Amino acid sequence: MTGSDDDELERWLDAYEQAAALPGRAARLSCPTCGVQALRLEFVSFSHGGEAVMPAFWCDSCRRGLPPVRAYPPAWATPVRWEETALPDYDLVGVPTRPQESS
Ligand SMILES: [Zn+2]
Repeated sequence: MTGSDDDELERWLDAYEQAAALPGRAARLSCPTCGVQALRLEFVSFSHGGEAVMPAFWCDSCRRGLPPVRAYPPAWATPVRWEETALPDYDLVGVPTRPQESS
């Protein structure tokens, strides 16, 4: 893999913009990380006193995904309650999940 994590995050943000532009578009996009057409986009609503909706955007192939706080749901979003979702445990792009070993 080439490029820094920042580049990868930029590509995911670009892909999210395209995926959020039209319903069903995510399925036709290639994953910014692995290139497979396996992107999934769901909108999850959380109730913490108020209602908050966060996009969940991830790849079913490489299990990478966009950190939800980085994106806003589009107007057409149909939120699913958090309790009713079955999101996979995917790695967040741009967020270190393991200690980096300096070789
Ligand atoms: Zn992928």
